[in-house]
Amino acid sequence: MALIVQKFGGTSVGSVERIEQVAEKVRKFREGGDDIVVVVSAMSGETNRLIDLAKQISDQPVARELDVMVSTGEQVTIALLAMALIKRGVPAVSYTGNQVRILTDSAHTKARILQIDAQRIQQDLKAGRVVVVAGFQGVDEKGNITTLGRGGSDTTGVALAAALKADECQIYTDVDGVYTTDPRVVAKAQRLDKITFEEMLEMASLGSKVLQIRAVEFAGKYSVPLRVLHSFQEGPGTLITLDEEESMEQPIISGIAFNRDEAKLTIRGVPDTPGVAFKILGPISAANVEVDMIVQNVAHDNTTDFTFTVHRNDYNSALQVLHTIASEMGAREVIGDTDIAKVSIVGVGMRSHAGVASRMFEALAKENINIQMISTSEIKVSVVIEEKYLELAVRALHTAFELDAPASNTAE
Ligand code: ADP
Ligand code: ASP
Ligand code: MG
Repeated sequence: MALIVQKFGGTSVGSVERIEQVAEKVRKFREGGDDIVVVVSAMSGETNRLIDLAKQISDQPVARELDVMVSTGEQVTIALLAMALIKRGVPAVSYTGNQVRILTDSAHTKARILQIDAQRIQQDLKAGRVVVVAGFQGVDEKGNITTLGRGGSDTTGVALAAALKADECQIYTDVDGVYTTDPRVVAKAQRLDKITFEEMLEMASLGSKVLQIRAVEFAGKYSVPLRVLHSFQEGPGTLITLDEEESMEQPIISGIAFNRDEAKLTIRGVPDTPGVAFKILGPISAANVEVDMIVQNVAHDNTTDFTFTVHRNDYNSALQVLHTIASEMGAREVIGDTDIAKVSIVGVGMRSHAGVASRMFEALAKENINIQMISTSEIKVSVVIEEKYLELAVRALHTAFELDAPASNTAE
């Protein structure tokens, strides 16, 4: 008998009918003899609706109160699913994050899980109950409700699987696995049977929202077997694996990720003296703004241009800080651009193959797409381009790296 943690995302519990379908699925698993802990998200659209409500009161709602409110979305779903299970004769009980005691730090809206008390859940499992836990939420030491960041139910699922030493964590969603790129953007995307934790971590951090990055981090750290599957279609899904060997038989590039959430800022004509980067990025970091890509140009006339990207939510505060720095440093001008997108190719195969970046640049050049910034690591190459070319770029790269599915397998 195995212990399985199953997480169902927003669209999979988006209506009462779907919740009944999930209950039916869980019932069948239970009949098979496995112990089941289910983690659910809020019904699709609900978290956005709640955030919109808060924004009607204030542009920047107090984070603690926002957490009190957005955590209610998941509380509704756990109760509905537990009811649907009980109706089917399956003993079940629902718990909020606080009731389990999913202890987090106090960083409201982006809290990290510190510890999970597995005792209560274990007692319920022993008594033959299915335990339904609210995703995305926890409680800090002082008893304040916290949330784990958008997509955080994935992390609840994996963290519970780690705490309970589950045999597998299954992430059920509205696609049948992890694809070479978002299948909603590229019809020729292909499902991967396996992807390494390392690659999945890059894909998630570079914008593939199929798994929350912290969930992948957790799974890697605690060796939780993790699988992404379709909620209502049969199939093997995608296994996230530690095993690099087998993946290396796959193409050099495993996937293409993209992100429209960034904005670019440039400060032009700053004196090219030691400490320039610190003078610019020190105040940016002091304003709690995280910087992603950075480019400093070769100096010309003893001055240089300095460009970096930040999350679009932080664009206005970063721009304000940069204007202050520019006048202090006597810089020529500050330029901002929100119409950008980042496209990244990811693959452990890059380690053993040369010329991957140039193949990427060639494919973009053929489409006349201008590259504004580049950054590389051992297993990824990212470029910043104009946002309007994003889909074209992703499709071109998908073809250039031979990731396209054979014509018979696509919806096109
Ligand atoms: P859930 O509500 O179940 O958590 P999400 O919307 O968070 O679902 O994640 C699933 C979505 O992730 C898919 O509908 C798909 O559009 C998107 N996605 C982005 N990149 C990928 C990828 N590489 N493989 C599969 N899905 C992806
Ligand atoms: N309901 C939360 C969100 O929409 C958490 C999740 O779905 O994983 O981000
Ligand atoms: Mg999600």
